[in-house]
Amino acid sequence: MTTYEYRCEQDGRFDVTLPLGSAPQRIACPVCSGQSTRVFSAPMLKSVPRALAAALDHEEKTRTDPDVVTSLPRTGVRKRTPVLPLTPTLRRLPRP
Ligand SMILES: [Zn+2]
Repeated sequence: MTTYEYRCEQDGRFDVTLPLGSAPQRIACPVCSGQSTRVFSAPMLKSVPRALAAALDHEEKTRTDPDVVTSLPRTGVRKRTPVLPLTPTLRRLPRP
């Protein structure tokens, strides 16, 4: 289900939840039953963390203008992913 936004000339904006891709261009206003037109707005931009917004902006910019790399990335000691201790059930499984 997706939330779509509509605007009634008398009552203002309201949201309608419909299955994805099934939103009509016009829908009846829940208050006055008048015809309301669909409104397209930016989804939840205020709730995106600043670092994520910067990363998304950078990703979009590098689609057509990629960053030029002049050196190899630094290599260092990589942290290994900790391995969970085997449970008694897993210990009984055959080993390669
Ligand atoms: Zn209305």
